[in-house]
Amino acid sequence: MTGMKAIRRFTVRTTVPAQISALTSLATNLRWSWHLPTRNLFESLNPELWEKSRFDPLSMLSALSREQLQLLAHDPDVVARVDSAQASLDCYLNEPRWYQELGAEAPQSIAYFSPEFGIADVLPQYSGGLGILAGDHLKSASDLGVPLIGVGLLYQAGYFKQSLSKDAWQQETYPLLDPDALPLTLLREDDGAPVLISLPLPDNRTLHAHIWRADVGRVPLLLLDSNVAENDDAARGVTDRLYGGGGDHRLTQELLLGMGGVKALRVYARLTGTAAPEVFHTNEGHAGFLGIERIRELMDPALTEHPLSWSEALAAGRASTVFTTHTPVPAGIDRFPRSMIEHFFAGKLAPGVPVHQILALGAENYDGGDSDVFNMAVMGLRLAQRANGVAKLHGVVSRGMFSGLWPGFDHEDIPITSVTNGVHVPTWVDPALAELARERFGAEVLDGPDWSKVYDVTDEEVWAMRRRLRAALVSDARRRLRASWKKRGAADAQLAWTDSALDPDVLTIGFARRVPTYKRLTLMLRDPARLKALLLHPEHPIQIIIAGKSHPADDAGKKMIQDLVQFTDDPEVRHRIVFLPNYDIAMARTLFPGCDVWLNNPLRPLEACGTSGMKAAINGSLNLSVMDGWWDELYDGENGWAIPTANTGTSEEERDDIEAGALYELLETQVAPRFYGEVVTMDAGAAGPSQPHDGALPAHWISMIKHTLAHLGPAVSANRMVAEYVQRLYQPAAEAGRLARANDYAATKEFAAWIDNVRPAWGGVHIEHVESHGLNDEPQIGESLQVRAHITLGQLRPEDVNVTVVYGTASDSDELTATRSLSLDSVQEYGPGRYQFTTELVIDRSGNFGYGVQILPKHGALANPAELGLITTA
Ligand SMILES: *Cc1c(COP(=O)(O)O)cnc(C)c1O
Repeated sequence: MTGMKAIRRFTVRTTVPAQISALTSLATNLRWSWHLPTRNLFESLNPELWEKSRFDPLSMLSALSREQLQLLAHDPDVVARVDSAQASLDCYLNEPRWYQELGAEAPQSIAYFSPEFGIADVLPQYSGGLGILAGDHLKSASDLGVPLIGVGLLYQAGYFKQSLSKDAWQQETYPLLDPDALPLTLLREDDGAPVLISLPLPDNRTLHAHIWRADVGRVPLLLLDSNVAENDDAARGVTDRLYGGGGDHRLTQELLLGMGGVKALRVYARLTGTAAPEVFHTNEGHAGFLGIERIRELMDPALTEHPLSWSEALAAGRASTVFTTHTPVPAGIDRFPRSMIEHFFAGKLAPGVPVHQILALGAENYDGGDSDVFNMAVMGLRLAQRANGVAKLHGVVSRGMFSGLWPGFDHEDIPITSVTNGVHVPTWVDPALAELARERFGAEVLDGPDWSKVYDVTDEEVWAMRRRLRAALVSDARRRLRASWKKRGAADAQLAWTDSALDPDVLTIGFARRVPTYKRLTLMLRDPARLKALLLHPEHPIQIIIAGKSHPADDAGKKMIQDLVQFTDDPEVRHRIVFLPNYDIAMARTLFPGCDVWLNNPLRPLEACGTSGMKAAINGSLNLSVMDGWWDELYDGENGWAIPTANTGTSEEERDDIEAGALYELLETQVAPRFYGEVVTMDAGAAGPSQPHDGALPAHWISMIKHTLAHLGPAVSANRMVAEYVQRLYQPAAEAGRLARANDYAATKEFAAWIDNVRPAWGGVHIEHVESHGLNDEPQIGESLQVRAHITLGQLRPEDVNVTVVYGTASDSDELTATRSLSLDSVQEYGPGRYQFTTELVIDRSGNFGYGVQILPKHGALANPAELGLITTA
């Protein structure tokens, strides 16, 4: 080695001989990352190099020498296997799948925007759950044949790599990626020049970007890269790292993602002759400016013969936009100073689009809002006609959290639905488990809705598989532990103990995720002596494997890691509890399958969904979790354990005490004894555990594993999730979008004019009085009463409104529950602008019956009556 450092580094792609040239396309399409036969093919070519290149086909190909490649090319068996793998890929890319049965009405193309995508460890463009989810969304879309196009940024350093200092403080490094060495293809014009998209910035600067395409099975993912020669230094750095800087840097990233992303889609459609997206789905608020770019396109006289007005363009854009909110934690939502947005849009970024209207979209003009702030989530909701949270409970929480945008509405009527997240099964099921399923039941069983075949597997086989997965994790953990200690300054001579750290026969509990405070990494340390006793229990010990990165700017998170690692450093327990640095996809794929129990103890209800427990479940791990996110709707008593939540009103300290106490109690009296085959009664203290005879299997535990696989498998699959998005959100959005565009936007113009009329006139809508007739003193079920509402509509017409009676069971405080509603659709005008609305209401229940009357706007183009945030109640 010389002391010389390279001033420039680049990757030369291998030329693969013609006989096996398909290896290049097999290595470039990321389907290999979840398609076991393709991985096996690469491994078989050279197992040693496969391991050395960290299971990255492209890197392995470039590491093969010309001679080795020639040898492979002249081996008829290799050639045949490469051909067959390529045929399988071609078939996968072209054959009709689930989506192709939906018919011609299904959207031609759907754009999916996200600031991060976690697809494979070779493409580290994610920080946590949001990115992994986006990756899984693309993969399942591909498996289902959904014509999705992903849009994101290509970060030069991705997210940081984590290591620990001697005193257990998180260290961050940002190794630069070379796009040429990644499974990416640069998008080029027909003449071969790289496509360049541009965004005008303030002070006459321009931000340029190249577009890289990753192929995720059938789904192209376009990644914008500002590291191009045409840019000044600052502009080159825009895509330097994921969630790097704040302020201007972050805003420029998001402008590039949203506005640049739409421009990239336009170029892609032009170059490939494919359909323009009919639906735009934004994964969290970061990409929200895509809505502004689409409004700009519709308003720009240079682009269309008949430019639309602001209101028309907004209505047209909203019709085909879907917004997904992902977090109830304020720190997870991007907010910018209003003045910064004003500064950026004052220039040529969106000529013709009124800046005050853009500012209004992100305004927190509600109780508790900050008038100096521009809120990306709020803009997301205002720019999308359809919105959702990511689990049922998160839907409830989001409707409450954003209720300020719909003043006067009951929270349950706020138009934010929920689609529970899922995980891409072929990516997250352990290969050993997948092989077993395939051998026994055929290829489809883990892709399909029927997982109950697991009941045909014997207890012995299940238990042997669990041990195998646990042992694989233990050996991976030992390797990582040793490497981490070496990084922290230990010498090899001091590290012999790591070879026997952890035990492949001890109940293994996993906890790995990002480390924001609400996820409470250190809850388990609440009573260190009690934790120690659990770890070292003579009959039923537990061992815990922990991992997670803290955001570089979050010292509270780093302190939690430090506290935890310092506990694990104790020689008394270090063989039973370990922290593994640099949590990423590669680690996760061994971790989930290897754990018997997956632990999650966030502060309820701050975990929007959480997906790591789902990944554990599809591998037969049992969940032990606070009733938050997905677990709140899918825990059923036999698939794991629920950690009870302290009552609201307790202080944070008390809450942690109570919930940690409950966690210890569960581990001590339920989880550990059951794992070791003791018969556990719910009333643990009373009977005392009975010891199993030697070699007996823990029958109850194994039945819980089978139950988990059979019931949770299909429910947590990303195929279920993507199908729901298609049916409940994409299809309606595409239909609304088509109606909006038809006849040169005729319906949009009418709808926008209607909104512009209804909004200011709504103040004139009043319920003067409501009366009912026809009930005697002792009303009976089945009798009816006539409800009459006298209403002033001011400038509006009766057909502009829906007057409804909302009825239900009335509480002592007159709160209505179990409500239903009925339109008052018989109308009589009794004075200028004054109407009587009437209906017959049948009493459908006994007990305290109550009703109220409300008025909502009515128009065929409204996706939801609450959409405009206008309501009048009696
Ligand atoms: C699944 C996953 C996450 C998300 O975990 P949560 O428990 O949902 O927060 C984060 N990082 C990696 C590497 C994952 O695989």
